[in-house]
Amino acid sequence: MNIEQLIRPDLIGMKAYSSARDEFEGTASVFLDANENPNDNGVNRYPDPLQKSLKAKLATLKETNPENLFLGNGSDECIDLLFRLFCSPGIDTVAAMSPSYGMYSVSARINNVELKEILLNEDFTFSTDRFIEESKGSKLLFLCSPNNPTAFSIPRKEITRIVENFSGIVVLDEAYIDFAKEPGLLGELEKYPNLVICQTLSKAFGLAGIRLGLLFGSKEIISWLNKIKPPYNVNQLTQQFALDYLNNWEKIQSETAEIISERKVLEIALEKYSFVEEVFPSDANFILVRVNDANKLYQYLINRGIVVRNRSTQPLCQNTLRLTVGTAKENQLVLEALNQYQI
Ligand code: PMP
Repeated sequence: MNIEQLIRPDLIGMKAYSSARDEFEGTASVFLDANENPNDNGVNRYPDPLQKSLKAKLATLKETNPENLFLGNGSDECIDLLFRLFCSPGIDTVAAMSPSYGMYSVSARINNVELKEILLNEDFTFSTDRFIEESKGSKLLFLCSPNNPTAFSIPRKEITRIVENFSGIVVLDEAYIDFAKEPGLLGELEKYPNLVICQTLSKAFGLAGIRLGLLFGSKEIISWLNKIKPPYNVNQLTQQFALDYLNNWEKIQSETAEIISERKVLEIALEKYSFVEEVFPSDANFILVRVNDANKLYQYLINRGIVVRNRSTQPLCQNTLRLTVGTAKENQLVLEALNQYQI
């Protein structure tokens, strides 16, 4: 597969911005090359534009190579940069499963790229042949597994069948993969030059506030993303905080296990309410439920000081609420409120 043929033609041959830190790395006693304020306050210097220490640590943790890893200001920046790299505004189209994460269509709109939404089946399962057919001719295809808001995973062999049959880039969003029963596709990345995988530290890692998104792909795609990204897209505070926090690997893993076990508690409890029509099985850190009157229940919970997400306006999601799994105490508060709900 020739990746260069998929890149926006007007970007070919483009010279990346060269920052002071790109042009000189290493030790010196006096740095007068970047028009920084010389007074040391811990953050007066520009950060490493390629986040080398942090990438080395993340690559070890994820059992991959730093050259296959791109870091963004959240996955949202990675998604936007993929549009900018591969799609000519007003010309190219992309495809995405639907219902799914809202930023695919927002990013498409901002970049003036037409988005074709391919509906899941009514029961939120995935029809691979239909996806292969309907995504033909698109530059990018967004798949989200486990999917937001349905919390379903797409079977691995269905994902790879799509990747093998798609002539553009498949963007597999694995934001919730740490909560899933099956591992993701990172271990198979090398086999598929047209696959990129997005992950994030915002969910299982508990670091939504520092904004750090991970994109895994071929060295070629990663070096293109490095060319077009804003020079210092991951700030110093984020890089340092993540580096320190990743030493708490056991804490991160035990929190994930706790969330998965709390998810089970909630799933079982939710099944019992007469106003709950369906609890969709979850591979993520949230549960989608279909209820008899989502607007009424949503407002009732708000009045009790509990905010969930009403997903009823999403395709195929009539009368659904999405509940993030909270702490054991928070989940008990939700269940106590639901116990007192009058239909
Ligand atoms: N992908 C999915 C599927 C999401 O649900 C979200 C956030 N809700 C994101 C990506 C955004 O991740 P980040 O915080 O890294 O921008």
